[in-house]
Amino acid sequence: MSTRIYLDYNATAPTRAEARSAVAQALELHGNPSSVHEEGRRVRALVEAARGKVASLVGADPRNVIFTSGGTEANVTALSPLNVDPDAPDGVLCFMSEIEHPSVLAFGRFAPDAIRFIGATGDGIINVAALEREIDAHDGPFLVSVMAANNETGAIQPLARIAEIVRAHGGILHCDAVQAAGKIPLDITELGAHMLSLSAHKIGGQHGVGALVLGEGMARLPCPLIVGGGQEFRARSGTENVAGIAGFGAAAECAARELANMGKLAVLRDRLEAEILARAPDAVFFSQGAPRLPNTANFAVPGMRAETIVIALDLAGIAVSAGASCSSGKVEQSHVLTAMGAPADVARGAIRISLGWDTGEKEIDTFIEAWSGIYGQFEKRQAA
Ligand code: PLP
Repeated sequence: MSTRIYLDYNATAPTRAEARSAVAQALELHGNPSSVHEEGRRVRALVEAARGKVASLVGADPRNVIFTSGGTEANVTALSPLNVDPDAPDGVLCFMSEIEHPSVLAFGRFAPDAIRFIGATGDGIINVAALEREIDAHDGPFLVSVMAANNETGAIQPLARIAEIVRAHGGILHCDAVQAAGKIPLDITELGAHMLSLSAHKIGGQHGVGALVLGEGMARLPCPLIVGGGQEFRARSGTENVAGIAGFGAAAECAARELANMGKLAVLRDRLEAEILARAPDAVFFSQGAPRLPNTANFAVPGMRAETIVIALDLAGIAVSAGASCSSGKVEQSHVLTAMGAPADVARGAIRISLGWDTGEKEIDTFIEAWSGIYGQFEKRQAA
């Protein structure tokens, strides 16, 4: 049995037993969900049950849930000028924060010159006043894309206020809620988002499944990224990933049920930060002054290199992330910490610890012990 300690839930959460069992049950069935015969109807029923569960995680109408191959596809589907003005897409601007996930920062289907970046505060919150000024100055159709919570720092963005501004100016609001879902309560109507992205593997489902959820005032279906057979209300063609979707539904149901337990993670996270600070008084904790996801800590000790810490912790049986660490496994300086004004030498040392439902006191104690050993060696080298 593995004795490893997994503190990297923001990268991927472990697959929940309920999701594994829903996937296994779905794999027992065959049939195409678009077929009218009994086999088809049975798998269709699985897809629709999952749609209901995913919808209920974010307070949406199940008819507004479009399954995708993940958060990235949901984001790219949302980011199209055709979703704002299908008749004159050329005039549509897209405002996004500098701290968005790379799948948003890649512009989706907007032309690069239609993008306007909005900066962030030192605490990792989008500069709402700057966003409002830019929107005021623009006389035309626009889309705003702001994440609900940041994947690196956990900083929760003021979505309701942003929605007020966007809606008052007749714009469309997309919210990447991939990290916030299952960690804080989310209601698409309260958030005021027209479109909201979700990903199954961040809440205990499988990789490669996600959803774009539509909210109030989204007058049209998003312009499909993948065209063909017209599945998913004609918004995303391709035969549905039935097993993955079934697992996503089961994970969403568990995540919704466990939201009430999330406060416990904040207590553990705060203890972890306090213990680090007690040992390393010059440690810098990112977004500590902002509303944050209860499970996320991101900190650096000036002079310590993130790669070194992550490797040493890995050897000690503990999984954490350095920087953003989403795709290539390469540690690059975090664009999020840079946007927050973190000095390069501090940002280079940032490690992200993200807790989840399997994290308890023991995991935190083991982490502190291992980290303290690594820090002790660093101190010795500094003194030599
Ligand atoms: N958005 C955010 C905030 C994320 O953290 C991630 C994944 O790390 C994604 C989008 C992409 O989701 P997926 O891995 O399902 O493509």
